[in-house]
Formats: sequence, structure tokens, C-alpha cells
Amino acid sequence: MPSISLEKEKNKTKPTELRQDLVTGDWVVISTVRAKRPDEFAKKEADEEHQIGVRDCLFCDPVASGQEKDVLIYGTGNDDWSLRVFPNKYPAFSRPTGGQINHKEEGPYFWMDSIGYHEVIVTRDHKKHLGQMDPVMVAEVLDAYQSRYIDLMNKKSVNYIDIFHNHGKSAGASIPHPHSQLIAVPVVSPYVDSELAGAEKYHRMNKHCVYCAMIEWEREAHKRIVFENEDFLVFCPFAARANFEMWILPKKHKPYFERISEEEKIAGGEALQKAIAKLDKALNNPDFNFYIHTSPCDGKDYPHYHWHIEILPKLNIWAGFEVSTGIEIVTISPEDAAEYLRGV
Ligand SMILES: [Zn+2]
Ligand SMILES: [Zn+2]
Ligand SMILES: [Zn+2]
Repeated sequence: MPSISLEKEKNKTKPTELRQDLVTGDWVVISTVRAKRPDEFAKKEADEEHQIGVRDCLFCDPVASGQEKDVLIYGTGNDDWSLRVFPNKYPAFSRPTGGQINHKEEGPYFWMDSIGYHEVIVTRDHKKHLGQMDPVMVAEVLDAYQSRYIDLMNKKSVNYIDIFHNHGKSAGASIPHPHSQLIAVPVVSPYVDSELAGAEKYHRMNKHCVYCAMIEWEREAHKRIVFENEDFLVFCPFAARANFEMWILPKKHKPYFERISEEEKIAGGEALQKAIAKLDKALNNPDFNFYIHTSPCDGKDYPHYHWHIEILPKLNIWAGFEVSTGIEIVTISPEDAAEYLRGV
């Protein structure tokens, strides 16, 4: 574990800050008065779930464990596979059977069929998470995301495609074998909606993309950058909603993830691999979620949005204040978190 001068004395007198997210306008609390050293956030107990043997794993041999037929498979050339995608056996949304989506009213209430596509993207090695893989293999994961995205985006009932990855039990990974999920649904989430509105509003007022503005400022200030390559910037956001939160922003302004180029997939694979490897090393393999935020595929244009990946470590338990307000009290400043992650 690297050592770091945290200037504890300075932190003691540092006032608690309410910071505003430049895109959504949401408020967060950065309160380092009871600051821990960065390494004190590290996971303490051994990761039992990763002890689950390959033999009992549902994803090591998806055919033998009775998973549905693959919709995508990347072979390695020697009769093995490196990645495969198949429908989730227990989908959160049921596949459309063709025809109508049922809507119904009940008094003041309204409901509609929970229709969509729910797929699992599985990489070969049971024990190797994305941070431990060769960056080229992580680029292959991005390639699979894109390929499935393009296949599903024009389906009639699909207006948004959510791609996410749960790592560790507290982040919701019920099967320890590394896998991502894709859910293509008729509705756009409120969170993405507020980002779309925020990006649009910022552009109206400043004639500039809010994410491009952040990239420019972060590169100039150099306080919150964790990693950078030619096409991507990894940094801890100014208004972090969680300790050690990271954003991965493509440097080229692009509203649509599905238009990622071959070069960007290679650079993006490297950025994602590095970010996760740093988190793993710095905090002893903590649980986390990451997900892609991109423009909806609902046929409208979103020229002012800028697709990106967000990584949210699960280091805190939400208590009364967090649950009642939706505001997490962040106890390590994004500046200190970035400095620590940069160093590992
Ligand atoms: Zn497995
Ligand atoms: Zn932009
Ligand atoms: Zn976002």
C-alpha cells in the first residue's frame, strides 16, 4: 500500500462542503472532518464468494448449467471461448412476444407490461475480474457491449439500453463469475433523464458540452485525474456521490456509445481495466458497480449529451440520512481519492 501525505491537520479544520453536480444539479456532501486515511477504506474480510468453486459455477460452462443459447460468442481459435452472451435465465423484463405492449389504468394508477431484453455478458476466467485481465480483453468486452447494443437498439419496444456490471455481493453480484448485464427497455431512467436535461440546459446557457467542459477543466487543474490515455480521461468527479467514485469520459464528444470506434474500444478497454485495477489494489478488491450512460435509442437526437462510464464503489452502508435524502456523505474528498488512486 503506498503512503500518502494527507495533510490531516488541514483536513481537521476544513469545512464540510456542499458541492453541486454540474450536470444534474444534485447536491452532495463532502465531509472530511472525520477523515480516514485512504487505505482505511480497504475491504477487511476475505472475499468468501470468490472461493465458490469452478465446479459449482453456472457460468464456467453455460451449456452444461442449462443457460439459454448464446446470442454472441467469441472463440479463441483452440475450441475454447473468451466471451459469450446469452439471455438471462431470470430476466427482470420479459421478452416481447410481438405485437402490443399492454397498458392499463386502475383508478389513479397506471401500469404497462415489463417488456424488454435482459442478457448476460460472461468472460471466460472464473477468477479474473476486469481489472486483472489484459486490457485487450476488456476492449473485447466493450466490443461485445456495442455489438449487442446495435442488435437491440432498433427493436420496437426498446428506448433505452442499460449496460452495467456488478462486482461483489454488496454490489449485487449473485454469481461470483465475472459478468456484465444488458437490459433493453421501453423507458429511460430518471437518472439518465436528469443528465440529458442537465446537458441540454448547460449547452443552452454556455454553448458548450458540459462533459467536454469538465474534461478541459480537469486536465488543466490536474487535481482529480486518476488515469489518462489518448482517447479517455479517468477522474474522480468534483461532486462525487460515493467515496472513490470514478468517471471514464471519452475525450471526443460523442453522444452515442454505440458509435465508439475501434481505436476508442482499445483505449477504453485500457482505461476501464486501469481504473478497476487501481481500485482493487488501493482498497483490497472492494465491491463496486460500473455502468454506461448513453443517449436513449428512442429515435430522437441528443447532440449535447456525452456518453460515459461511471464506477461507484460500495464502501458505505446507507443509513437514515442517505436513505431519506438520497445524499451520501462522502468522507474522502475526490481530490484525495484521486491522488491515492493515481499512486497505486
Ligand atoms: Zn465460473
Ligand atoms: Zn462533450
Ligand atoms: Zn452519468
